[in-house]
Amino acid sequence: MPPSRESISNRGDDDEVCPVCKSSRYLNPDMRFLINPECYHKMCESCVDRIFSGGPANCPVAGCHKTLRKARFRKQTFEDIGVEREVDIRRRVMQVLNRREEEFDSKRAYDDFLEQREEIIANLVHGTDVAKTEGDLQRYASENMRSIRANQALEAREASSFQEQQTHEQELARLRRQAAREEYENERREILAGREDVLSRLAAGKPADAATIAREGHKVLLKKSSARRSEEERIRQKQAALRNSDSRKAGATAVDRTTESRDSGFIKGLKRIKTPEPEKPYDPFGGLVPNKRDYYTLRDSYPSSYLDPIRQDTRMQAGGYNLQEYYSRTLMEAFAGLGCFVDEEVARRDGAISKPNATEV
Ligand SMILES: [Zn+2]
Ligand SMILES: [Zn+2]
Repeated sequence: MPPSRESISNRGDDDEVCPVCKSSRYLNPDMRFLINPECYHKMCESCVDRIFSGGPANCPVAGCHKTLRKARFRKQTFEDIGVEREVDIRRRVMQVLNRREEEFDSKRAYDDFLEQREEIIANLVHGTDVAKTEGDLQRYASENMRSIRANQALEAREASSFQEQQTHEQELARLRRQAAREEYENERREILAGREDVLSRLAAGKPADAATIAREGHKVLLKKSSARRSEEERIRQKQAALRNSDSRKAGATAVDRTTESRDSGFIKGLKRIKTPEPEKPYDPFGGLVPNKRDYYTLRDSYPSSYLDPIRQDTRMQAGGYNLQEYYSRTLMEAFAGLGCFVDEEVARRDGAISKPNATEV
């Protein structure tokens, strides 16, 4: 039984004292507290070592009889134990019920699923219907192991590709900054060089030409800066086009995902996946069995005073004469046409349904 909410929130006050050995952080500043998600009772690290090193043992906190294992002790992430517990439960449920929106028929069905999941989490957090909820959850987990695994893998892949994209974008931004800085430097150097050029020409030339030289120098600078502006514009357009194609590519890969059968009634509104029918073995005669006759079976010999002597007659056998062939042909001719009903066939032919029919014997 998990501790009630009051006992959880009250324990925030004596945070600094281990409830087991009563030593406090005041005397031992290096003291670390650990919790076990079994009952969320907090105790210091040395107590955990002392009590649970020899194997599983009962929780030393008075009134709590949970059996705890050392391996499951961990540091507390949130200050409020209630929050810590809720986050743990939420994480566990989300790992099992990890259906994705694209697996549902409609947005509405997905919303219903999200609501159902919140309800399950709330039940577990507040201790309502715990046994039934846990049972449902476990049954769902065992029935949908494959889909759960696939979705987990998908999530991991998405997370890592997001990380990749982030670093990629950071790298691009760094390159852009560097290019801008270099450009600024170049521009400054060009202006200085231009000015120096004008000055030296002014110094060398006649006083009468001064105005012309100054005007020319100004014109050269203007031309350079306008050329630079158009170049910048061109680069900007190219980058925008590149970004667009990138995002389109990302969208295309997101749709591609593994599908599988889903037959649990626990979650409603999941898309039905049609499994293709297994291919039948190839039948070259289209259902017709060779050597099978509908109205008779061929026997090895038929008593006949006329045919029997032939079996011993070497003059007949020498030429390769085979009685079997004779039986087969004779019987076929005798029975041919027994399965044909001309009036029916004619009626069918005169009606619109004139299907070509393979003649069967
Ligand atoms: Zn302690
Ligand atoms: Zn406990």
